[in-house]
Amino acid sequence: MIELSDAQVLYSFSADMVSALVVASGETVCIRTQDCFGNQLQESDDSIDKLDWSRVNPATGPLFIEGAQPGDVLKVSIERIEIDDRATMCTGEAEGVLGDLFHDGLASIAKPIVNGNLIWGNGIDIPCNPMIGVIGVAPAGNISITCGTPGSHGGNMDTTKIAQGSTLYLPVAQPGALFGCGDLHACMGDGEIGVSGAEVSGYVTARLDVLKDRTLANPALIDAESFFTIASASTLDEACDRAVHDMMGILEERLSGITREDLVMLMSLCGNVHVCQIVDPQKTARFAMPLHILSAYGFTW
Ligand code: CA
Ligand code: ZN
Repeated sequence: MIELSDAQVLYSFSADMVSALVVASGETVCIRTQDCFGNQLQESDDSIDKLDWSRVNPATGPLFIEGAQPGDVLKVSIERIEIDDRATMCTGEAEGVLGDLFHDGLASIAKPIVNGNLIWGNGIDIPCNPMIGVIGVAPAGNISITCGTPGSHGGNMDTTKIAQGSTLYLPVAQPGALFGCGDLHACMGDGEIGVSGAEVSGYVTARLDVLKDRTLANPALIDAESFFTIASASTLDEACDRAVHDMMGILEERLSGITREDLVMLMSLCGNVHVCQIVDPQKTARFAMPLHILSAYGFTW
């Protein structure tokens, strides 16, 4: 297996990024990732006040995947997520949904992770649900999107379902795709309401495949139970609308023997809209359809 250290990280996704590694389609890579603070808060007395904000949300990479061209899809099979044993979190003034309640800057704390639980204290052990916060490719055109912002290219989607065993599909917009990931969370609730998860460094092992027979406008995901569309927009309403429309577009193309009306009714009965995060510069929502329902209509992906 190929290993990639965190010696080179990116803070924005753009076409002009210099590749950290070139891999063939079908390679599996074990990627070392820094936490969202760039591992700057390591000692218990490290204060968030001294944080260098130009070094937040690093994604390791980018990886240039040979053969990937605009219009393709990059399939990212997340085989393994390993997290380190200490996580940091923060909240405070003007951050997160409750930022209006604070007037004294930011507070941060660190907690140990033992046997798959975050040891909160007060007798509370929180079971970890390790996930990837930032994962994406270079966007279309000449724009540069900071790693703190999610979009059609992926980025800071902060989606709990982007976890070990799931497969993420990203629309390729630049030659080589220019893939990067980072910002692992040991635990996070849907919404990420306080502005952070349990931020942790670690390793992501992922197989990267270029798919020539698929196109996507926005990220999609499969786990053991569901097929998801994931969309980001300036409001949650728009993000939900886009995720549902994306699902409709994909299903109309790939299901057979069902009318448009029946499909919408089926989606209304069995599909679930969920909040991914509501605290980043763009909000992210997902729409999930159960795989056993879709497979009854011949769905493959
Ligand atoms: Ca994040
Ligand atoms: Zn994070």
